[in-house]
Amino acid sequence: MKKNKLFSCEDLQGSIYFGPNALRHCCQRFFVDGKMEGDVEILKVKSDNDISVENIISAKKKIVDDLNNNKKTPCDGCPKLQFKEWTDIKKINKISIEAHSKCNARCSYCSEMFYGGLNPNYDLNKMLDKFRKLNIFDKNVAITWGGGEPVLLKNFKNIFKNFIESKYPKFKDIRVYSNSIIYNNLIHEYLDQNKIILTTSTDAGTQETFEKVRGVKKGFLQIFKNLEKYNTKKSGNIIIKYILTSDNYNNDEINSFVDLIKNHHLLNCNFEISTDYKFENLDLEKSLSMVYFYNSLSAAGAKFIHFDDHVRKRLFKFFKENFSIKQMEKNEMFNNLRKYFDKDIIVWGTGRYADEIIKNSFLFKKSKVAYYVDGIKKKHNNFISEKVYAPNKILTSDNPILIASSTYWQEIYRKILDLGVDKKRVINTLII
Ligand code: SF4
Ligand code: SF4
Repeated sequence: MKKNKLFSCEDLQGSIYFGPNALRHCCQRFFVDGKMEGDVEILKVKSDNDISVENIISAKKKIVDDLNNNKKTPCDGCPKLQFKEWTDIKKINKISIEAHSKCNARCSYCSEMFYGGLNPNYDLNKMLDKFRKLNIFDKNVAITWGGGEPVLLKNFKNIFKNFIESKYPKFKDIRVYSNSIIYNNLIHEYLDQNKIILTTSTDAGTQETFEKVRGVKKGFLQIFKNLEKYNTKKSGNIIIKYILTSDNYNNDEINSFVDLIKNHHLLNCNFEISTDYKFENLDLEKSLSMVYFYNSLSAAGAKFIHFDDHVRKRLFKFFKENFSIKQMEKNEMFNNLRKYFDKDIIVWGTGRYADEIIKNSFLFKKSKVAYYVDGIKKKHNNFISEKVYAPNKILTSDNPILIASSTYWQEIYRKILDLGVDKKRVINTLII
């Protein structure tokens, strides 16, 4: 297998994002000189005939060639670029189905690109067959379903079933991003069978704010009712997201949201606190609201609460500029975090998230990494240069364990418990 040390990224190497009239390499957005870049296009699609595996691979190779020959590319300045050894681009290991842009909401942080009302210019089932025949997929392919609202895709159930029950490739890590305004029995079935993970953004605790943030009147309480229905087996496969915007972060709103979560028996779900990606920085009010949000959910009994990577990074930046370590040590907001100061911590995970949290957190200003473990063997790791151990190593000591991933947090947590480790060793608190 030919290998080169090159600039590339995971998405250039093996992802396809299927839009209604174009295929893209990624859904990454980033700022260069104050201008938003990203969503890099592979090719335009007017009909099934425009989707050519050959053209997809050559478009990917062209960007990688240009990146490594100092030519201008749409990826310039992207934080996901890595300089390391990559294998040749041959197989697809991740796809994202966002092939239509029909949605029953109009979120303030979204755009026409996702709710403009387009249908796909091609047939997704035929596309899957074509790709299979050309043997372009890796054995396992990660897949996300978005849109628009996925259940509004024409013929959704038939297409969804065809993909999820595929023998080749086997789709794993199947993620569905639905606003849950409409209940769908197939989503419910696959949730119960532990085949999919559903993420639903709620973003409001009151009807008034729902209308401002989601841009529509209908559906606010229905979302919570549908989530309650999806959650009957308490499988832990639901992620409830709250994207903080300038309209939905005051304490009353957050209190109302937490009450709804309690009343609909959703505290066992995973919670992800995020921000509108257009905010580059956070102010004091928003930063404190995020901490308040975390602590309120936690006090209500939620056990799996995370800030996404962007939020955590921005929060740390804010507190670093405005609080000293001494102030942090005294402030009661950080009571739980303080328990892990001056400790040797095992870090499970060796990717970008681990790298970020170690470089940019108060926790690791006050504590040390004991060692790293990872369930996935990586020959070359761009982020962690130290030795990485197999998961069993955590059985040899009693050190606290930090799960360095927000996406796979609960999956890793289950693995840790399966190894027979006491859950008290897992750091499950607000980490800044
Ligand atoms: S480098 Fe960034 S912009 Fe380019 S394909 Fe990768 S994720 Fe997308
Ligand atoms: S629900 Fe999703 S697709 Fe629809 S408007 Fe909101 S963010 Fe956009």
